[in-house]
Amino acid sequence: MAAGDASRTWFSEMVETLRQEWKSAILWDEVFTLRDRLDAMLYEIRFSRGIRPPTMWCPVCKQRTQQAEPTVSVRAIIFALGRFGIVPPAEVKSLEKRWAKHRKENNLDRNGKLDEAVTAVSDSQGRGNHSHDPTLR
Ligand SMILES: [Zn+2]
Repeated sequence: MAAGDASRTWFSEMVETLRQEWKSAILWDEVFTLRDRLDAMLYEIRFSRGIRPPTMWCPVCKQRTQQAEPTVSVRAIIFALGRFGIVPPAEVKSLEKRWAKHRKENNLDRNGKLDEAVTAVSDSQGRGNHSHDPTLR
């Protein structure tokens, strides 16, 4: 496996799909559908190539643990649009603002799904519910 693949989120096939599917007047529902598709692609690519996430030191588990599998969030898509030159930087900024507003107004999680995790935050153990996803920090 190539260096850097362990924590890689954007593979060339995915960037191509994003480039083909993105349009300037895209609706949020279409963005979410595209996100689902890219997320499935990422899973498929990583699974078929046997790519495992890197390990990290977890202060809660007090041991080296494997990081969570990377996923494609709506924000990651917006950043990728800028990073791969699909939309100009000013448009990326505006998208970022619109997404933050839309997400808040509709109580959506980072993937555009209805956020139901709000009530599940506290557990009696005080652990077990923490994430090993470095992108959530
Ligand atoms: Zn942990």
